[in-house]
Amino acid sequence: MNCRRIIKKIEKRSFGNISSSDNFAIRFHLSYCKNCRDYERTSLLLDKMLKKSISQGNTLVYSAEEKQALVDHLQSNI
Ligand SMILES: [Zn+2]
Repeated sequence: MNCRRIIKKIEKRSFGNISSSDNFAIRFHLSYCKNCRDYERTSLLLDKMLKKSISQGNTLVYSAEEKQALVDHLQSNI
C-alpha cells in the first residue's frame, strides 16, 4: 500500500472510524516507513493540541463580571 493511502487512513483514524483491517494496514506500513511514522507523530501532536485548545476554550465561558468576581475572591483569600 502506498504512503498516500496510508496517510488518508491515518487521518480517517483520527476521527475514530476505521476498520481493524485498516488499522492493521497502518501498523504494518508504519513498521517499515519512516515518512509515515513522522507524519503520524505530527498528526497526533496536532490532534492533542487542537483538543487541548478546544477544551480550554470551553472552560472560558465566564463573563467579565464573573471573572472579576473570581479575581476578587482569589485576592481576598491571599
Ligand atoms: Zn509511508
